[in-house]
Amino acid sequence: MTVSDKSSNITRLKIEPTIITRDQHNVSRTSISESALKVLYRLKNADYKAYLVGGGVRDILLGREPKDFDVVTDAKPEQIRELFRNCRLIGRRFRLAHVRFGDEIIEVSTFRAPHHVSDEGAGHVEGGRIIRDNVYGDIDDDVWRRDFTINALFYNIKDFSIVDYVGGVKDLEAGQLKLIGNPSQRYIEDPVRMLRAVRFAVKLGLRIHPEAEDPISQHADLLEGIPPARLFEEMLKLFMGGCALQTFEMLRHYNLFKYLFPQTDSLLDTHEKNYPHTFIMQALKNTDQRLNEGNTVTPAFLIAAFLWEPMRTLADDHIANGLSEMEAVQLAGDTVISKQIPSLSMPRRFTQMARDIWSLQVRLKRTKKRSFRVLMHPKFRAAYDFLLLRTQAGEPLQELVDYWTKEQLEEPLAGKDKIKSGYHKPRSRRRPRSRRNKPSDS
Ligand code: ATP
Ligand code: MG
Repeated sequence: MTVSDKSSNITRLKIEPTIITRDQHNVSRTSISESALKVLYRLKNADYKAYLVGGGVRDILLGREPKDFDVVTDAKPEQIRELFRNCRLIGRRFRLAHVRFGDEIIEVSTFRAPHHVSDEGAGHVEGGRIIRDNVYGDIDDDVWRRDFTINALFYNIKDFSIVDYVGGVKDLEAGQLKLIGNPSQRYIEDPVRMLRAVRFAVKLGLRIHPEAEDPISQHADLLEGIPPARLFEEMLKLFMGGCALQTFEMLRHYNLFKYLFPQTDSLLDTHEKNYPHTFIMQALKNTDQRLNEGNTVTPAFLIAAFLWEPMRTLADDHIANGLSEMEAVQLAGDTVISKQIPSLSMPRRFTQMARDIWSLQVRLKRTKKRSFRVLMHPKFRAAYDFLLLRTQAGEPLQELVDYWTKEQLEEPLAGKDKIKSGYHKPRSRRRPRSRRNKPSDS
């Protein structure tokens, strides 16, 4: 039987799922975190349905270690809270539960129906875009609201089987990323899915299916309507996941990068010697390398790199108009960051650090005077790394780099405070703050 809704091109199929029994798949409980298992079992023991869903199942099937675990259940948020002491309900547009075990947060959401199969009014769509998404359902409702087939696999704690309504397992085997339902419609509902497509394609080495690929050019500009804070969260996932370079190239290929950093993008298209391109590629390569070696990176460094060329171009104009280099860099920095905020807004601590890195580039040129004060600046290490990056990208700054390398060796306190210079531990993506901006899903 097929139930379709006139307001939507997506057809909800009342179909029987494929059940992949435990002996037919490789999702073992030893690959699932203890905390996620505790949540699943406690729900099950209280006679609720409980499934692991999303990246957790997908990544284990691919033989990768999941970043985090999402659980879905028929228990309502209040019922989830009754079961777990360490639980917080979050979200305004849709409520879900965060169950905390030390540093790990398991996100538990209640089955929801996609807005278009409900007429209860709690789901809400404006101009095709999901505004509210709060209608509870069952697993066979919940599956249709998910984005890609490979993200819609449910691992059932009751019998350890995988429930597949959408052919996700076959798509994983075939290495293809397919949207569930009508691709155009799904991008209009939530344009961030275009960015997610690129992220998953790169991270998991999948091909975006032509049907999911074709409508991107038509709908890319819908990303202009996404709240800038949500784009920031998405930007972190795109560039702080260890595949920043490839992700950048694919975003440029689909002309999506310009919705994240419009000022940078327009320079990438027009600049003569292609310097910004080389520079950004080098910055991304270094970021990937650091992350893949287990080091941490601060988003501020990437922000400083992405906006460096727009800032520098503007600063050159100011210098031509008679400002000192320092004044020019500070003024240009303010302007470039203010112009950036309406597209993708960044927390102040990061923009401030980007500004510091830029002004320190001017101060690092003055090698004779006040070296000690520069060395003691809390952002010295980051600024020094930035100088290295510029050199790697071809600027003739090697002498300066050598000077500061030597100064650091002679000054044991230099750059000692790595925390302050921004090399902090990465924040867990599962903090409540980052979830609040997520519009349609869990
Ligand atoms: P990862 O955690 O590795 O980034 P993930 O697939 O788990 O990948 P999450 O953002 O944690 O991604 O979301 C969990 C699940 O929620 C997804 O697998 C998908 O089923 C659903 N989901 C998340 N965001 C969306 C969205 N924008 N549209 C539709 N479904 C979504
Ligand atoms: Mg996840």
